[in-house]
Amino acid sequence: MTSTNSGVTAPSGTTANSVSTAPSGTTATGSPCAPRTARFDGAVRRAVADGLLGEQQPVAGFLDVDGVRDSVTALMDAFAAVPGTPVLHTFAAKAASLVPVLRLLADCGMGCEVASPGELRLAVEAGFAPERIVLDSPAKTREELRLALALGVAVNADSPGELRRIEELRSPGSSSVLGLRVNPQVGGGSIGAMSTATATSKFGVALRDPGAREQVVRAFAERSWLTRLHAHVGSQGCPLELIAEGIAETYRLAEEINESVGARRITGIDIGGGLPVNFAGDEVRPAFTDYVAALRAAAPGLFDGRYDLVTEFGRSLLAKNGFIGARVEYTKEAGGRRIALTHAGAQIATRTVLMPDAWPLRVGVFDADGSPGERPPMVQDIAGPCCFAGDVVAHGRELPELREGDYVVLYDTGAYYFSTPWAYNSLPRPAVYGFSGGPDGAALRFAPVRDAQSLDSVALESGLEHADALTGLGGRR
Ligand SMILES: *Cc1c(COP(=O)(O)O)cnc(C)c1O
Repeated sequence: MTSTNSGVTAPSGTTANSVSTAPSGTTATGSPCAPRTARFDGAVRRAVADGLLGEQQPVAGFLDVDGVRDSVTALMDAFAAVPGTPVLHTFAAKAASLVPVLRLLADCGMGCEVASPGELRLAVEAGFAPERIVLDSPAKTREELRLALALGVAVNADSPGELRRIEELRSPGSSSVLGLRVNPQVGGGSIGAMSTATATSKFGVALRDPGAREQVVRAFAERSWLTRLHAHVGSQGCPLELIAEGIAETYRLAEEINESVGARRITGIDIGGGLPVNFAGDEVRPAFTDYVAALRAAAPGLFDGRYDLVTEFGRSLLAKNGFIGARVEYTKEAGGRRIALTHAGAQIATRTVLMPDAWPLRVGVFDADGSPGERPPMVQDIAGPCCFAGDVVAHGRELPELREGDYVVLYDTGAYYFSTPWAYNSLPRPAVYGFSGGPDGAALRFAPVRDAQSLDSVALESGLEHADALTGLGGRR
């Protein structure tokens, strides 16, 4: 087993030799884990051989099903290492809003966290039992709340206003577990848009604002049906200690509420998700065990069995289990810079293109036959197909020289990338495939997760059935 994936560079521009590999653990088939990027080499080769990637289909997303199962096991084992604490692990649907992926996670024993009517529908279609679904979102309509309460899914109110609506709408017999989201205001991380616990975050009840804590305690004292506290302190760019401190603050509030009420009013704490992902190398860092250790250090009482715990991880479960493959359509030179024009741009790697410093991705280079590109490196830009100048997924990266017909692979894109495409330029949603098996031993098999969007579908989504609506509206001729 080697780590000679010479076609991989870390986002910093370092060469493949310095990309750390962590061949720890075993795959679901029991074989030793190859370094992840090398493990995907076989999938890339087969995808090209089978035509899942090629001239006809120049971009697609791929998800390692064995890897997903391993990641769920790692999460469950990390929390199960503290015996006596009941935990419902839910998957944050927005990280991979694809029905087959959600059903896979249900099959792995997970619940589902949803934050919109669409995500709730996907979770129900995927087969999650209502009591294993949690609805969070900062702008739930009355209709949405009514449906959630009728189904019996758990709901976390985001504000005192939403709490009042739930109070109006819930029937005494509702089986929904009801909670309130708080913002412990412990501060943000390195990515502003990913920091949910800043002083002015839009999420939850801001605990450190004057009078807010007392108001929250009173809200629980007055409502015997309000039994859960929720905090999601994250995510990418936030240090583990900061996240753990936010959860510890939530735990202390639960203790204060129960003391003040003189009963076990709060029976569950939903600690959210938000574990950051290492986009610079193969190593899974921080691990779920690191997070559990940080939580135990910050709030030992959280694990003594008095509270049911709910988790809502997304990125940390899927990011490293997926990749995007894209064909190089052309190469060119501009101002002395080599540019590879590929089919992976803002439509499939939106965050990376719009915020390149916050979301750098590792890039792998493969030949036209899908084998790892083994050529001398040169500095190149990897650009996408969108018509705006910033549509570049990797700037000035040292990579084996790309040629027309080669493939680039964007690693660590199993969450929030190919599952969440952007319709810019009327580019179709790319196909997504799951795979299992390989590279050593078990045969590699693919299964379709989402078909590539057809041009008929693109036209329909763009108002085709209302084509005459504006010319027929009247007005001046
Ligand atoms: C997005 C989100 C999550 C998942 O966050 P990750 O960083 O993907 O783990 C969990 N809970 C809530 C409320 C969220 O908004």
